[in-house]
Amino acid sequence: MENFLDLNMNILKGRIFSFLKRPEDISDLESFLYIEDGGILFDEIGIIKEVDEYSALRSRHPNSPISDFGSNLICPGFIDVHNHFPQTQVIASYGAQLLDWLNKYTFPNESLFIDENHCKKEAKVFLDLLISNGITSSVSFGSVHPISVETLFAEAKKRNMNLIAGNVLMDRNAPKDVLIPPKESYEKSKKIIEKWHGNGRCKYAVTPRFAITSTPELMEVSQSLFDENKSCYLQTHLSENLDEIKTTLRLYPDNKNYLSIYDKYKLLSDKTLLAHSIHLETDEIEKIKDTNSVAVHCPTSNLFLGSGLFKFEELSRNNIKTAISTDVGGGTSFSMLRTLDEAYKVQQLQGFSLNPLESFYWATLGNARALGLDNEIGILKPGCVADLIILNSSSTKIMSHRMEKCKTIQEELFILQTLGDERAIEGVFIAGENVKAA
Ligand SMILES: [Zn+2]
Repeated sequence: MENFLDLNMNILKGRIFSFLKRPEDISDLESFLYIEDGGILFDEIGIIKEVDEYSALRSRHPNSPISDFGSNLICPGFIDVHNHFPQTQVIASYGAQLLDWLNKYTFPNESLFIDENHCKKEAKVFLDLLISNGITSSVSFGSVHPISVETLFAEAKKRNMNLIAGNVLMDRNAPKDVLIPPKESYEKSKKIIEKWHGNGRCKYAVTPRFAITSTPELMEVSQSLFDENKSCYLQTHLSENLDEIKTTLRLYPDNKNYLSIYDKYKLLSDKTLLAHSIHLETDEIEKIKDTNSVAVHCPTSNLFLGSGLFKFEELSRNNIKTAISTDVGGGTSFSMLRTLDEAYKVQQLQGFSLNPLESFYWATLGNARALGLDNEIGILKPGCVADLIILNSSSTKIMSHRMEKCKTIQEELFILQTLGDERAIEGVFIAGENVKAA
């Protein structure tokens, strides 16, 4: 019996790295677990059972199969808390800032997602891209069409992937093939929630795109859906671009600022993800804090669309919960490493050097906490799901050359985020299954 049980367990051997809490500074050695010759044991359904020195683990489980990753790092999989499934093919579209970019590229492309075959093809491509970049959990926008998000949920479930997603809610200021009237949106969203929220690892997010494409009636629909489904998330955009803010306040003249619109419709809570949150007034920062909502930084998108610089230091000082995301296709990379690199540069432009412990914390345990899922993902500890990645810090010529001078794990993480990309992701495990090869 003992041996039989052992054979159903798997061991991964390598250098283990996982955060235990938010790092206070770059020398906060208590904030993470690092085992030079470590092992992780997980069971046949992909639940982590033990994390320890390899030799200790081996002596307790002499018969379990081993995958040896040598000197590579074994870390929790990256978590992307904001991206757009129907924008995969508009990534790298030239010459526009937010509102023009939506009209010129995004809305026409999103209109294609009325077709189920197109959705199926794109869902595979999208999840393949996330996974090959080490993203094992995603929070995603669909198009307005229910089939877009249903297809994405189905594809994620096939892969046993943790996916939070929603059909986007829009009923004005866009071409009519990407608009759905409020009542119809309500009925369709309700059906999707019943079918998919809590199905496998899928979870639903109520998804009003932003105030500009929402009439007050549609805001009420968002409010009802969010209120009636308390375990669902809410995702939207906030204060990304100055023209966007002006247009928003023209459409909602009775509101004193952008965030007060979402507040009016009771859309703010600890399950609310506010993408961008760049140009915030003091009142808005206070409100984000009071409601425990999450300000989501999208660095590659903010630079690409010329939107502005996320004020990480100010938000941290105000104890605002923040998270980090790719925001593809306004974002320019599916790689969380490239995203962390751009986040560093966004802070450098403001005279602040974001330390690599903070950025890797963000992409793993920090984002898991922002989602309230740190008992499932973002950390390597018993009871959590074995969603993890194998990182090779010498995956390119310059990386291996630079690594010859590397002395600490902090420095290694900084090399990974500054020079690394998809090539540094040697393996990706979702619920204990190696899916990178597939
Ligand atoms: Zn977005």
